[in-house]
Amino acid sequence: MTVASNLSAIRESIARAAKRAGRQPEHIALMAVIKTFPPEKILEAYAAGQRLFGENRVQEFAEKFGSLSELRDAEFHMIGHLQSNKAGKAAEIFCAVDSLDSVKLVERLNAAAEKLGKTLEVLIEVNVGGEEAKSGIAPDSSELESILIAAPEWKNLHIRGLMTVPPFTEDPEGARPYFRQLRELRDRLAARNLPFVSLDVLSMGMSHDFEVAIEEGSTCVRLGTAIFGTRTTP
Ligand SMILES: *Cc1c(COP(=O)(O)O)cnc(C)c1O
Repeated sequence: MTVASNLSAIRESIARAAKRAGRQPEHIALMAVIKTFPPEKILEAYAAGQRLFGENRVQEFAEKFGSLSELRDAEFHMIGHLQSNKAGKAAEIFCAVDSLDSVKLVERLNAAAEKLGKTLEVLIEVNVGGEEAKSGIAPDSSELESILIAAPEWKNLHIRGLMTVPPFTEDPEGARPYFRQLRELRDRLAARNLPFVSLDVLSMGMSHDFEVAIEEGSTCVRLGTAIFGTRTTP
């Protein structure tokens, strides 16, 4: 299977899942997750019309960045855990950070974006499963509250919504309660009309569970293996 044929099969699955849920397929963005994959694969996806990409590691993307610089209209988002000491580099090479998970990181990233005269789109990562090993902020935590309340101060960040990686279960149905929990959290927060906070984006769903995520309201699914094949390195 080629990247192009995988992408077209996935776009069809997205359209079918949207239809089942009574949603418009245009409201669901497909992000190609490029971690561990070489620039050639990314160029292949680009040639097949893919424009939205996600990367997990600052250093890895910094190395690929040069060979991708001609892809002017492609969007690259940071989606992995970001250490605050790498905020400067991240602000430089990404247009969005979908994995904000602490007040400290928000402060560093805002300062870095300000220095570059840039506004970054950001999502807050929520650890809905409460797993120790996962990054993300606890739902209904004071840290989440602090970030949202102080949003008017982050002049170079635009909060667009929430992101999650639920606990892994073999059966994709296992992720449904977590996806639903994220959507309900979003709805509760959106009802408060917090200044300078938009919550239109719900980034949830990966290769094995994106159809369930779409049924639960995802507006962005993040797929790696389904597009590029199995990762050989971790
Ligand atoms: C790796 C990764 C994905 C994609 O996972 P696949 O199972 O390959 O689709 C999505 N989101 C995040 C945050 C990831 O780290």
